[in-house]
Amino acid sequence: MNLQLTEQQEMLRAMARSFAEGEIAPIAHTIDAEEKIPDSLRKKLRDSNFFALLIPEEYGGVGVDAVGYVIVMEELARASAAVAITVSVHNSVAAGPIAKFGTDAQKSCWLPRLAKQWLGAFALTEPGSGSDSAALTTRAERRGEEYVLNGSKTFVTNGKYADVFVLLARTSQEQKHRGITAFLIERNAPGLKIGKNIDKMGIRGSDTVELVLEDCRVPAKNRLHDEGRGFRVAMQTLDGGRIGVAAQALGIAQASLDAASRYARDRYQFGHPIGDFQAIQWMIAEMRTEIEGARLLTLQAAWMKDQDIPYGPYASMAKLKASAVARMAADRAVQIHGGYGYTKEFAVERYYRDAKVTELYEGTSEIQRIVIANSVLHPKDGKGTT
Ligand SMILES: Cc1cc2nc3c(=O)[nH]c(=O)nc-3n(C[C@H](O)[C@H](O)[C@H](O)COP(=O)(O)OP(=O)(O)OC[C@H]3O[C@@H](n4cnc5c(N)ncnc54)[C@H](O)[C@@H]3O)c2cc1C
Repeated sequence: MNLQLTEQQEMLRAMARSFAEGEIAPIAHTIDAEEKIPDSLRKKLRDSNFFALLIPEEYGGVGVDAVGYVIVMEELARASAAVAITVSVHNSVAAGPIAKFGTDAQKSCWLPRLAKQWLGAFALTEPGSGSDSAALTTRAERRGEEYVLNGSKTFVTNGKYADVFVLLARTSQEQKHRGITAFLIERNAPGLKIGKNIDKMGIRGSDTVELVLEDCRVPAKNRLHDEGRGFRVAMQTLDGGRIGVAAQALGIAQASLDAASRYARDRYQFGHPIGDFQAIQWMIAEMRTEIEGARLLTLQAAWMKDQDIPYGPYASMAKLKASAVARMAADRAVQIHGGYGYTKEFAVERYYRDAKVTELYEGTSEIQRIVIANSVLHPKDGKGTT
């Protein structure tokens, strides 16, 4: 593995950083306070191709590799974790499975629109099934050339504005995992209702909604992959998504370190900048070291994905580590800011709230540990990963 970024990757970082610092950072506080990404910023993100990142070039996308994607996601999240997750869900868990599992007709139908115009969402979680996602109960019954879906989904990121949903439903009651099928459901599908908005602790600028499906009719041609293969679609989609969340966590952690070190230089107590005190230096040193370690793990998982090497447990390790580092770094950043870190005047308060979710979505830290432990104890190749 070459640890040197290519010239193209460096350019991608410079472009993403310049966009994030110029267009997102100045309004990140307002996005959080008003719980909305302004339409003008959505348009700029769209015009700068952030919603086309993972879509292959032949379908009008940019087709960046996973390493490039991590670099961009970290830069966006450094300015606003809410904006980063909006872009990440669209690319990696909505457009991603269409690109990977879609038929030529499905790819030609949806990917160009997702690259240029539409927003995507991913609906797996239900009120009764979170970590145990294979226990989902939304039913899809085949009737002629349609499926009729009934049930509900929750925690759907981007759901308020999404034009198309990758949605998982049960087509067989007999089998748990193999009874699940993936569908592509357009926003105007008859019987699909966008439900209540979920009021959250952090990433408040990212919309999260419930969905209700009442006799929702979906053409059979909108089935993604075969009947009974939906759980596989979902799990492989989440493997990739976890690298994106790890990158998001890195961005929050790096923003926390940037803010903490700035404040440590500027804030005087006892006649010295607080950065002169060893207690503060140790916190900064720990933050820096942990961030570098988490970044290496995240880039490794992304590099493995690019090389087509099985990377599932590495994506879990990256997410587990980077999310813990984000929470630690945001906590230390608030500590270094003292009482001011607890106020809305400083961005570290937002980082502290935003960091937590990276330990929860796209599989909690407990679920990542299960994936990692299984890869060691029950390796698929019989050799183990250690
Ligand atoms: C802001 C936000 C956005 C989200 N966006 C999406 C989205 O776009 N699409 C989507 O489908 N979902 C989304 N989710 C849902 C998210 O993926 C789930 O919340 C997550 O998978 C956990 O499920 P749960 O909340 O039902 O918790 P539960 O599964 O009920 O877990 C509760 C606790 O028990 C632990 N636990 C559960 N099972 C085990 C076990 N076997 N061993 C040890 N511990 C266990 C968990 O780790 C957790 O600590 C989002 C969630 C949030 C908060």
